[in-house]
Amino acid sequence: MSDFYQLVIHNVEVATMANDNDYGVINDAAICINNGIIQKIIANANSQDIEIETENSIDGDGRWVTPGLIDCHTHLVYGGNRANEFEMRLEGASYEEIAKAGGGIISTVSATRNTSKDELFKASAKRLSYLIDEGVTSIEIKSGYGLDLKTEQKMLEVAHELETYSPIEISKTFLGAHALPLEYKDRAEEYIDLVCEEMMPQLHQQGLIDCVDAFCENIGFDLKQTRRVFEKAKSLGLPVKLHAEQLSNLDGSKLACEYQAWSVDHLEFLPEENIPYLKQSGTVATLLPGAFYFLGETKLPPISALREHKIPMAIATDSNPGSSPCLSILLMLNMATTLFKLTPLEALQGVTKHAAKALRIDSKVGCIKEGMQADMVLWDIESPAELSYRIAGNPCHTVIKKGEVILSKNSHSN
Ligand SMILES: [Zn+2]
Repeated sequence: MSDFYQLVIHNVEVATMANDNDYGVINDAAICINNGIIQKIIANANSQDIEIETENSIDGDGRWVTPGLIDCHTHLVYGGNRANEFEMRLEGASYEEIAKAGGGIISTVSATRNTSKDELFKASAKRLSYLIDEGVTSIEIKSGYGLDLKTEQKMLEVAHELETYSPIEISKTFLGAHALPLEYKDRAEEYIDLVCEEMMPQLHQQGLIDCVDAFCENIGFDLKQTRRVFEKAKSLGLPVKLHAEQLSNLDGSKLACEYQAWSVDHLEFLPEENIPYLKQSGTVATLLPGAFYFLGETKLPPISALREHKIPMAIATDSNPGSSPCLSILLMLNMATTLFKLTPLEALQGVTKHAAKALRIDSKVGCIKEGMQADMVLWDIESPAELSYRIAGNPCHTVIKKGEVILSKNSHSN
């Protein structure tokens, strides 16, 4: 008697990403799926005389399969666009001139406040589609361009609606402590009151927050203010993560680890002696090569020390209009290898199993094994390293989310 499956993907080479030190390759595999869950993976399926009954099958034609990619740090929902400012800067305008012309983060805040929820949804859905085209099946989206209750709520509602209307899963992060809005100039403490006493509790009550983030930096919020945000999150039972050590070292990562942060992100200025704190708290180091590249940074995150301490390193787009207007997770794999010198294996781990850990969804996605959700991508590549090696060009062939084909270059189903 043979088993029956709703979907079988056969004739594929699988990079399961289930191991720590290699791709976990299964050759000539057949992946059997029921109810969106991987039930069975058969190796060397063509050379065995096995009968599998299935409702639907996909002949992978020898293609590579990886887990669905995960973008664990984005600011995908925002109004407006800063291409004009980019142009002004390259034509020689100073920061003051750009600020006077209404540029910088504050321009995105005012555009986001002034964009209707429908328009915000449309613009964000379009950006999201670029990521899905490259095999992204789970994503994190932060608020942080509203900086008032109404607009922070609008951003998180848009993130929630994107999850309802698109096939992919979205983790929603409240980043009220992203920047100081103009109306609170020189009154940072009062703004943190607003974040902690009004925004966070109300948005949490509406079920709009999965995790709380802050921007701990000289141009953001200091350690004491960040601690207030984390204390409030803790009192509401919400987990935290942090934008830390991007432009200077304030020891934000150390503070975040006190609160068992899911991840600390950027980390160019992370001192090596603080790395053991990440280890103790199980915190993921999320690296954002797009912002490093776009800002022309030169100080590298302490990659070899993170590697030595076996800290899981995630890679993400940091998609945002100011410092990383990036809509390509594959380009981030390339930059993680060329700029940060990660190996192609580490880079791919960074957008699969380690990104899953950064969002604490690693019990169901991030690698291909029995019992995991059937989120997978079929690629037109000769080896997994090609995903990092290429500069642009999209070899994504088929994207499968929870056992359903959500994108296919041509139909191989029968
Ligand atoms: Zn960010």
